[in-house]
Amino acid sequence: MSKKILSAVLAAAMTAMLAACGGSSTATTAAPAETKAEETKAEETKAEETKAEESKAEEAPAAELETVQKGKLVMVTNAEFPPYEFHDQNAIVGIDVEIAGAIAEQLGLELEIEDIAFDSIIPEIVSGKADIGAAGMTVTEDRKQNVDFSDTYAHATQVIIVKEDSEIKGVADLEGKIMGVQQGTTGDIYVSGDYGDAAVERYAKGMEAVQALAQGKVDAVVIDGEPAKQYIKEVEGLKIIDESYTDEDYAIAIKKGNTAMVEAVNAALAELKSEGKLDEIVAKYIQAEE
Ligand code: GLN
Repeated sequence: MSKKILSAVLAAAMTAMLAACGGSSTATTAAPAETKAEETKAEETKAEETKAEESKAEEAPAAELETVQKGKLVMVTNAEFPPYEFHDQNAIVGIDVEIAGAIAEQLGLELEIEDIAFDSIIPEIVSGKADIGAAGMTVTEDRKQNVDFSDTYAHATQVIIVKEDSEIKGVADLEGKIMGVQQGTTGDIYVSGDYGDAAVERYAKGMEAVQALAQGKVDAVVIDGEPAKQYIKEVEGLKIIDESYTDEDYAIAIKKGNTAMVEAVNAALAELKSEGKLDEIVAKYIQAEE
C-alpha cells in the first residue's frame, strides 16, 4: 500500500475513532487541530477516555480497508459501454476496468468485476454487494442521494446520433421527435425530463438503441459521446451532430457513508493522475481526433 493511501486510510480510521468517542471534529490530518481537540477534551470524563482507548486498540491494527469480500475490490459495471467497459472475447476490458485495476493494485486488493444491468449498479452498491460502481457513471444530484461519488476522472457529453440525411441539425430540432436511449442512463433521465416519456424509447443496451435508429424505429439517439463514436463506426449511415446535449463528469460510485473507501479511491486516483497513468490508460482506448 502506498504512503498516500495508507495515510488516507488512517485518516478515515481516525475520523471513525473520533466519531466513536463522541468528538465532533472532522479534521484529522492537521496536527495542531488534533492538539486543540485534545485540549478541549481534557475535561471529559475518565470513562470516556477509557472507551476511546479501547476503540483505538480495536482500530489501530485494522488500518486495512474493509471490503465486501476480504482481499478483493468488487466492481460492478455494465460492459456494454465502449471504450469504458466492453467485452473483448471472454474478457471485460476498457478504461474503467484499467482504472479500477490500478486502484485495486494500489490498495493491495484483487479486482473482481461483475457485469450487470446499468440500472442495477446503484442498487448493488446501496445494498452493499459491491465496493465500487465504475461504469462511465455520471455524477448527478439525484444519484448523490443514494451513493457517494469519488472525485471525477473524466469529462463527458451526451451527444445526438442521427441518420446521415436527418433533418435534425441541433438540440432545437428534437421537439416532436422520438429519441432512443439506454435505460436508466442520463440520456434517458434528461431526454424524458425535457420531452416527456412519450418521446423516449428505452433500450437495455446503447447499441440496441443505435440499431433501432438505423432501422428507422427512432429519429435520434441521445447517448454518451465516446460510446457513440464507437457505435457509429459499427453501424453504417449514422452521424453525431455537432451540438451536444449535456456536459457531464464521470466518477466511481461508493456506498453512502463509506468515507474510508471514498478516501482510499480518491488517494489512488490522485496518484494515478499525478503519475500520468490515467492519461496513459485513456490514450490507449481513445485516440486523439484525426
Ligand atoms: N454516463 C451515463 C450515465 O451515467 C451512461 C453510463 C452507461 O451507460 N454506462 O447515466
